[in-house]
Amino acid sequence: MESHDHFAYLLPFIFFVFGCTFLFLERWGSAPSRYWGVGYIVAALGFASPLILAGLPVPVQAIVANTFFLAAFFSLGHAILTRFGRPLLTAGRLIFCAAAFLCISYMVLVEHDLRGELAVSDIACSILLIIPLWQVRRHIRRPIDRLLGALVGLVIADNLVRVSALLILTSSGTYASLDDFFASEYAFFMQMSASIIGFLLALTVLGTVMLDVVWQHRHAAEHDPLTDLLNRRGFERAIPDFRRESFPSGAVLICDIDHFKLVNDRFGHAVGDMVIVGLAAALRDGLLSDALVARFGGEEFVAFLPGVTLAETGKLCNAIRLAFATRDWRESGVTQQITASFGVSATARGDHSMHDAIGRADACLYAAKSAGRNQVVMEGQQAAHAPTQLRVVSAANLRA
Ligand code: GH3
Ligand code: MG
Ligand code: MG
Repeated sequence: MESHDHFAYLLPFIFFVFGCTFLFLERWGSAPSRYWGVGYIVAALGFASPLILAGLPVPVQAIVANTFFLAAFFSLGHAILTRFGRPLLTAGRLIFCAAAFLCISYMVLVEHDLRGELAVSDIACSILLIIPLWQVRRHIRRPIDRLLGALVGLVIADNLVRVSALLILTSSGTYASLDDFFASEYAFFMQMSASIIGFLLALTVLGTVMLDVVWQHRHAAEHDPLTDLLNRRGFERAIPDFRRESFPSGAVLICDIDHFKLVNDRFGHAVGDMVIVGLAAALRDGLLSDALVARFGGEEFVAFLPGVTLAETGKLCNAIRLAFATRDWRESGVTQQITASFGVSATARGDHSMHDAIGRADACLYAAKSAGRNQVVMEGQQAAHAPTQLRVVSAANLRA
């Protein structure tokens, strides 16, 4: 047996193993895994078709093998679009596959042009990857995405180089026939490069699948499932460490829905949940994008606003308070006004951790609750004169 023959067995086997691995990894919560898996298994069938279809006439082998490759590249494209959450364009890409299939069948059965058939197949497979790569190009951000994009680009380039070489070399008389061309070292080298790039792509896909699964689990561990804000653990991880970093100036707010027990009691727990989601949305909309906002538990939220002053944060909180208090809940069956109270503090030199600032904001929140709720209380700037005195910023004050 020649080394070429060993190679012929090895490649489909490797692709098949990768395909099965991807299918298995779908269980871990990776949505595109199924399509990577199908893509690699069907590509393995395509590479193995000279072996598994050995008894059949050459034109049948050619059509079946090319159908496998079209299906494989369609599935790989589906995986790319799924992974980046882009429109799948399924109907359009299927119509393209059907047109390519008809074209290939015509070349083989009517024109008996194997060279043309190979060229159409390679170009069609390239286009089946160019479409998704183009669709996701603006969504490639992380290094692993760039690596994935680069390898998909390499598969496309390799396909196009192969088809150019086939068209140029077999027509220029360098090789007397297609058979000579396929027996050449050059064709072997081309097949080798396709296999190596396919293998590297599979390794990269494996990397993306594993990282996606890790990111998903980490996101779930650090976020609150109801509001998708950070949970306490996520907040602790995200806030600056006072011992390691230079002093992180900024403001802390803490807010809590007023008389929330009554909302739950009167309108039910599900409506209560909706109200919690409503305050989370108001916080998300009302704070700057670099604010770290967390649901600390129940209907209590904490946020750290890096680089923002106490006064600015007071204004932001009051705008959020007003937006929340004036929200119409009748659609959710709530016929009363729902309000929230806020406490605001600033990080101070001498704080040992963010929790010192959170503690001061919590004291302000307590003051807001005691003073009648539905208001923002900021840590008093006059604290040096009267440490326990808090400046109460009522709605009327802030609107003025
Ligand atoms: P106050 O104005 O003093 O804050 O009064 P309150 O009734 O809001 O008192 P408190 O903050 O102690 O109430 C918290 C309530 O929130 C008690 C609990 O039943 C409810 N709760 C906690 N977690 C959830 C949740 O995930 N969903 C719903 N619907 N209710 C929750
Ligand atoms: Mg409350
Ligand atoms: Mg509470």
